[in-house]
Amino acid sequence: MANRNLDAEELKQAHLLLDDIRRRLEILAGDDIHLLFAYRRKIYKELIYLERGKPMARRKIKIQRYDLQHGKCAHCNADMAIQYSELDRKNAADGYTLENTELVHAKCHQARQAAKGYA
Ligand SMILES: [Zn+2]
Repeated sequence: MANRNLDAEELKQAHLLLDDIRRRLEILAGDDIHLLFAYRRKIYKELIYLERGKPMARRKIKIQRYDLQHGKCAHCNADMAIQYSELDRKNAADGYTLENTELVHAKCHQARQAAKGYA
């Protein structure tokens, strides 16, 4: 399934929200650029977690997927080292769940994303 995109009005709202967040971060940090950096990094990390889940949860799913697939890539069916594998979501909005992911070689993941027009 293709990822949903924002229409023109939704994109405008997203930019307004981003402007608001930027202003609030600047107010919080005052003229301390190091504090501004720390606040931005914290918000960035938490937003990534909302989109991708926390690293330990993804790691657990990766190990379960590896076992389910008997160490084979779901794309090319060749043997795969877990440290060079990546979880590929079937539908990105459904997140990293056991049902919504397949484990593939990093290079196979890139090939899949290129085929979908993401890379
Ligand atoms: Zn592969």
